[in-house]
Amino acid sequence: MISLTNVNKKYDGRVKALIDVSFNVQQGEFVYLVGPSGAGKSTLLKLLTREETLTSGTIRMGNMQVEKIAANKLYLLRRQIGIVMQKDLFIPYYSVFENITYCLEAVGITGLQKEKRGLEVLGLVGMTAHKNKMLQELSIGQQKKIAIARATVNHPSVLIADEPTANLDTKSSAEIMKLFFRLNQKGTTIIMATHDSTMVNSIRKRVLELQGGRLIRDDHDGGYTSYA
Ligand code: ADP
Ligand code: ADP
Repeated sequence: MISLTNVNKKYDGRVKALIDVSFNVQQGEFVYLVGPSGAGKSTLLKLLTREETLTSGTIRMGNMQVEKIAANKLYLLRRQIGIVMQKDLFIPYYSVFENITYCLEAVGITGLQKEKRGLEVLGLVGMTAHKNKMLQELSIGQQKKIAIARATVNHPSVLIADEPTANLDTKSSAEIMKLFFRLNQKGTTIIMATHDSTMVNSIRKRVLELQGGRLIRDDHDGGYTSYA
């Protein structure tokens, strides 16, 4: 369902962030994207969401050719994708519940239906009790759970996460990973950039490894060499 063919990305016409990258991801797969800092991980994720545009090659997402989507049709792509950023941005004067549900209104889900779906995802991430709090009152791990709830509230077929366990202690990391595995079991495709070699090595999934912009490994039951 996701397919990259000979993808190149240059910044400013000279920084080669991705070089001739090709791979396919099937619906329902769980993929770790690893590699040292500067390898091109964030760039790859940004090409999938069309936050950046590729320099050459082709990216397919479902039945869409990503680089050909007109600006006024990008919402069709982004509706298919949930995103958990490295740094979660929330609307500071909205409650936890409002931060999760406001994006439902954009797709016409309001009233009781909105309430129901909001409570459903809050339950899924185990944060129902924090419904009416403000984000600033939550720990970083709890905020990450809210970011995951928000990313999944529209039932995306793909969930993209950039270093979701960065800055978390072992216990919170494990909880966050458990959420991703649960979502994956429900059929959501997961693409996760991570430096967390312990996680990658202990819970074996497909590993795509970038180095200097090149895909140097595509390992379907892979472990991970630490760069530390
Ligand atoms: P990461 O290694 O996790 O991608 P970075 O700190 O390298 O994080 O990058 C943070 C942000 O800055 C990213 O959005 C990235 O695209 C952007 N960035 C990285 N390198 C450059 C650069 N040379 N010029 C402009 N922006 C950059
Ligand atoms: P990673 O996420 O693996 O750390 P990035 O995709 O952030 O890697 O960066 C890959 C390369 O592209 C790096 O050399 C980085 O400096 C460069 N880069 C990233 N974003 C930009 C940008 N907006 N402008 C210029 N160079 C960038």
